[in-house]
Amino acid sequence: MIRLEHIDKRFGDHHVLKSIDLALAENSVTALIGPSGSGKSTLLRCVNLLEVPDAGRLVLGSTALTLVPGKAPARESVQAIRRKTGMVFQNFQLFPHLSVVANVMEGLVTVQRWDRPRARKRALELLDRVGIADKADAWPTTLSGGQQQRVAIARALAPSPQILLCDEPTSALDPGLAAEVVEVLRSLAAEGTTMLMATHDLRLAATIAREVVFLSDGEIVESGTPRDVFTRPREPRTASFVATIT
Ligand code: ATP
Ligand code: MG
Repeated sequence: MIRLEHIDKRFGDHHVLKSIDLALAENSVTALIGPSGSGKSTLLRCVNLLEVPDAGRLVLGSTALTLVPGKAPARESVQAIRRKTGMVFQNFQLFPHLSVVANVMEGLVTVQRWDRPRARKRALELLDRVGIADKADAWPTTLSGGQQQRVAIARALAPSPQILLCDEPTSALDPGLAAEVVEVLRSLAAEGTTMLMATHDLRLAATIAREVVFLSDGEIVESGTPRDVFTRPREPRTASFVATIT
């Protein structure tokens, strides 16, 4: 079970997330859509505590964390939540000084304390799964954007997270390269990977999401199946946003 309860976040006077409640369907994809600045990235970053919510509660399987205003969460709780999440960023964020396979091994070796041969074996399996095993010993900078993003996906999956958080995973890519990444995400979705994904790409959302959540000005305005949200939105704000991106 993955739940966000009353998640609240302010940056100074700016109330960026306003009591967000969201239960994520396991083994399926939830797409987060909304205008620029609506809080999508902040919400994703709150799930893995790259940003600490001011208040609210996160439940990731057996781990729950209640955030109390003005009080930093315990380090162990933060680590417990982080270990259950993997994150994929718009701009890949691979370690440039590490080979492709070493990028995927990094967290297993440094955080999970796996020995290198075991970590390498797992990393090679994941690179194979994202269709890029032949690039294991290459440097990230020699790869195309689509290949780099697939490495980033393999790296995020390495510790077997309960949820894969993806922030605009295809928006830095040309259409052809984006299609490679969409195909990988689609196959992960088909295998039952739980994902929460911010995206401007309606086709991506419609292809792989079970649920679409429309965020506007830090609030969930509407959620439902892709067909409902995209073709028969209930709320005027949803309708006008959808009209701008279709
Ligand atoms: P986009 O579609 O452009 O990626 P978004 O929906 O992901 O937008 P966020 O990046 O979550 O939006 O930003 C929400 C609001 O919070 C914006 O007004 C942004 O300027 C503000 N914000 C985000 N991070 C910070 C920060 N670290 N400090 C101050 N303000 C921030
Ligand atoms: Mg964003």
